[in-house]
Amino acid sequence: MKAEIIAVGTELLMGQIVNTNAQYIAKGLADVGVGVYYQTVVGDNASRMKEALGIARSRADLIICTGGLGPTQDDLTRDVLAEFLGRKLVMYGPSMDKIAAFFEKRGTPMVESNARQALTLEGADALPNETGMAVGTAVTQDGTHYILLPGPPREMKPMFDHAVKPWIESRSGHVMPLFSVMLKFAGIGESFLENRLLDLIEAQTDPTIAPYAKEGEVAIRLTTRAASREAANAKLQPLEAEIRSRVGDHLFASEDITLEQQVLHMLSERGLRLAVAESCTGGQLSDLLTAIPGSSEAFAGGVICYTNGLKHKLLQVPMDVLEGEGAPGAVSEETARLLAENVSRVTEADFGLSITGVAGPSESEGKPVGLVFIGVHGYGRTEVVQVQQSGNRETIKLRSAKSALYHLWK
Ligand code: ATP
Ligand code: MG
Repeated sequence: MKAEIIAVGTELLMGQIVNTNAQYIAKGLADVGVGVYYQTVVGDNASRMKEALGIARSRADLIICTGGLGPTQDDLTRDVLAEFLGRKLVMYGPSMDKIAAFFEKRGTPMVESNARQALTLEGADALPNETGMAVGTAVTQDGTHYILLPGPPREMKPMFDHAVKPWIESRSGHVMPLFSVMLKFAGIGESFLENRLLDLIEAQTDPTIAPYAKEGEVAIRLTTRAASREAANAKLQPLEAEIRSRVGDHLFASEDITLEQQVLHMLSERGLRLAVAESCTGGQLSDLLTAIPGSSEAFAGGVICYTNGLKHKLLQVPMDVLEGEGAPGAVSEETARLLAENVSRVTEADFGLSITGVAGPSESEGKPVGLVFIGVHGYGRTEVVQVQQSGNRETIKLRSAKSALYHLWK
């Protein structure tokens, strides 16, 4: 079964609200083994909605519309579908009773537009709405299934879970659900990773391989359809093993967690604590770490030593290392080393992690934008790595913070 989601609403189209309904529905359809092939957004306009329905009918056999089931003038979805399918609108008794009871309780007269919310299509199944007034609709015509759901997520979600899912399952025959594994990588760029896996990606059919990059990390999702988790694993595991054999060095998790979560987890498991000295990232590394609840167990804190003065005063980097004729400079292996060593000593943390680099947009100390030194101190040893980041100031900062975590994890 191929599904298309049509989200109706001018607010969505204009970017005033985010289309979270489509996300919720798409995820829910995957649970019942239905693949979403298209998502459409259309404004509150009858002729364009009809056009969208026509296109959807030509390429999908399940069409789920959300939005526009309210009582007002711009809520057109049910009228448009009725016209599109050449069916009459009919009153759904239980919804009508609910609406009438609501107005009676409030002591205000019900206006005709409110009654519209109890309308569904002739010959359709009515989908009850537990948290609102508008009734949902599910109907099959010429082999295509059409479903109408209201826009407010607090109404749409329970209707989707309790009424739509069973309705679809009873019609789709037995479609096997989707299973997936998420592989997370760090210290490797998306294109580099894709290159190493190119033959696998090009030949993919089942399982499918979907790489994507997000917030300084790269992920690959492997997905397959199977009758059970065990059957899915039998297909997913050989592929995962092949990927591990090629890029396993960079794989930090085979679940959907971030690098900072993984690093904190590893530190707390061993009862170790980390302190950081951040120059060019200005606290971003600390921010990533402290975004995770319970991080204080493994993260002691640190110093944002942005200026040379602070690097010297708080972390004892000698001024003649930082500046002056022939000095290595703030962005150097020496500085990264001293920052990592001294921050762990001063804070009595087991590990010291330092970042010093050029975030841009212009070069500094005659060093290019994106040049970053990362110092890792622990177990009486210090290692400094030099990395060259690309991107704008914001990306360089984020990538440097992630890169520091990666070198600590390694
Ligand atoms: P109402 O009775 O509230 O008018 P409705 O079924 O007519 O409900 P809309 O008028 O399209 O739905 O949207 C009502 C509200 O629901 C929107 O203002 C928005 O807050 C939310 N909403 C609508 N569509 C979506 C969507 N696709 N994703 C997330 N929220 C949505
Ligand atoms: Mg509305």
